[in-house]
Amino acid sequence: MPGCYSQSRDIAAHHIYPKKKYPEIQFDTANGITLCKPCHEETYGREEQFVTMLVRVVQTMDD
Ligand SMILES: [Zn+2]
Repeated sequence: MPGCYSQSRDIAAHHIYPKKKYPEIQFDTANGITLCKPCHEETYGREEQFVTMLVRVVQTMDD
């Protein structure tokens, strides 16, 4: 997550596009990002608010 500098190994696989709304891409690794546990918990229930930002993060890493 931008601004997070956690070194924790306690990480979680996060679906960028929520699997509830986009079940067809829930196993697409391009829709996955790892977040530390506190950051992952921050997205609970408001996953869609993080989509644009996390897509940007992944695109930046591809460059
Ligand atoms: Zn974090």
